[in-house]
Amino acid sequence: MTAAESSAAAPAPSDFIRDIVAAHVAEKRYAKIVTRFPPEPNGYLHIGHAKSICLNFGIARENAGQCNLRFDDTNPVKEDIEFVDSITTDVRWLIAGWADEVLGVKAKGTTPALVTSLGRHDYFQPPAMPGSGIETEPFFASDYFTALYECAVELIKRGKAYVCDLSAEDTESFRGSPDLPGRDSPFRNRSAAENLDLFQRMKAGEFPNGARSLRAKIDMAAPNLWLRDPLLYRIRHVPHHHAGAAWCIYPLYDYAHCLSDYFEGITHSICTLEFVDHRPLYDWLLGSLDLPRALPHQYEFAKLTLGYTLVSKRKLLRLVQENKVAGWDDPRMPTLSGLRRRGIPAHAIRQFVANLGVTKHDSLTDVAVFEHTIREALNHSSERRLAVLKPIKIVLTNLAPGEVLVCQATNNPQSDSPSTRAVELTREVFIESDDFAEVPPPKYFRLKPGGEVRLKYACIIKLDEIVKDAAGAIIELRCTADLTTRSGQPYCDKKVKGTIHWVSAEQAIDAEVRLYDRLFTVPEPGASEDFLSLVNPHSLETVQAKLEPSLAASAAPVCYQFERLGYFTPDAKESTPARLIFNRTITLRDAWAK
Ligand code: ATP
Ligand code: MG
Repeated sequence: MTAAESSAAAPAPSDFIRDIVAAHVAEKRYAKIVTRFPPEPNGYLHIGHAKSICLNFGIARENAGQCNLRFDDTNPVKEDIEFVDSITTDVRWLIAGWADEVLGVKAKGTTPALVTSLGRHDYFQPPAMPGSGIETEPFFASDYFTALYECAVELIKRGKAYVCDLSAEDTESFRGSPDLPGRDSPFRNRSAAENLDLFQRMKAGEFPNGARSLRAKIDMAAPNLWLRDPLLYRIRHVPHHHAGAAWCIYPLYDYAHCLSDYFEGITHSICTLEFVDHRPLYDWLLGSLDLPRALPHQYEFAKLTLGYTLVSKRKLLRLVQENKVAGWDDPRMPTLSGLRRRGIPAHAIRQFVANLGVTKHDSLTDVAVFEHTIREALNHSSERRLAVLKPIKIVLTNLAPGEVLVCQATNNPQSDSPSTRAVELTREVFIESDDFAEVPPPKYFRLKPGGEVRLKYACIIKLDEIVKDAAGAIIELRCTADLTTRSGQPYCDKKVKGTIHWVSAEQAIDAEVRLYDRLFTVPEPGASEDFLSLVNPHSLETVQAKLEPSLAASAAPVCYQFERLGYFTPDAKESTPARLIFNRTITLRDAWAK
């Protein structure tokens, strides 16, 4: 069984949110469990988002429900279509084969049909099923701009919202602080008729940015600051990447989010802990409209934060903008596209997140836990290959030029039925320069003057002579191959302590290999605004490697274990058969453990 299969077969995880959902299922509270994953398209998804994706899609999957991918795209200033595309790709990649069947999408280019008279909004549509021939796309909060506007008009009519002319600074200072009640805006008691007129004119583009806003009329003395007449709409004369140029007023997150959830028939709106204080506002807004269908409810869990990296789109954007990395999908980035390009399989990320569980307490996860999960997954799924990263040449003087000894190498000892492939020993081979020491330290069991070592899958060799050039640099190591010790032969009682990897120098193919390490030198780079100065200067080393010839045609997303070195994958973006480039996914052991 592969790791992917075993994780599929594992019992469904249990946590406090799943317990709540299970209770609702037991009491048949909803016809169907519907969750959503609601990213703002202002950056690429990162490992933190994977936790939210796995939780939302996982709950839908375990309950035969649905999970909508919805872009929370209400702030066009920071958003872009590039991010919409990358997020869509990354979500589909992370859940592929695991939860595709619950992914809620709509027919491309449509805005779900709506009944405009309030009380009978009905946006919810069953997802267009894969294979139906209908081209589909995710949901967009911006598709609801008209409906959101109508709901705002209704709030105004009900005396629950007003147009305010205070500047941004005044709005802020009128809000007060946790120990100081706020002050009412002088515009708070405008009549509904005046508010309706002004709001309509805001929409029509009569006023400049910032001149007016729409605010909920709740309680300027509320202990919860989010209830002190929060902003619902602001004026922004900018076009929108999805909605086009139709709007110059844009709803704020809290207002758009709860209603988008309602329009889509979301039952469980799951978000991270910083939204606990927003929940009363979420409930107030929905409760103020007397909506006819069951209301969604918000539940909060602790974010994932991971050591030696960042989980903030804003900070990751700075790494990209200031060229600390080669883009959002740089294999050192904690983005899903970076992790994918680095060779980390989606099922390893899902397993990692499942192992962490879901709690209500923020904590920093040791990156070693993630790395361990990756090694476990790849150990099961990766075929072994021979590759030499920093080559030094060996001449086996007792083999004739052109002579070939065919050896059998195991492809994957973890597989239930391990297969082998032929690798050919020739007179000239490369070994790792680290596997040779002219002046060996004590207990050095690899190649040393006069010493013997086994070439894996081949035979034992003995170092006879070190050949150097005039400047003293080593040109080659002349060795004798002991052909009585060939691997796989029945009677060989000669044993040596060291076994090393090698490739035939005559057959080897060249490749650039990119050796990645942790992106930051400290466990919590995000704790400092000066995180750019904490980037690990050794996070990328490039070497020219020699690979066994069977690797010539490799292309992403395959991942190999290069024996004794780690896991490696062809670079999805830049590797070609004419110029192979491999990324090191991860080393075999944790080099950071003290
Ligand atoms: P960032 O600060 O990186 O922009 P965000 O929370 O602003 O993160 P959103 O696009 O709003 O990013 O996130 C989409 C969803 O992913 C939200 O429901 C959010 O709560 C969740 N999420 C974001 N970061 C994490 C994290 N580190 N761990 C778990 N869930 C997260
Ligand atoms: Mg956000």
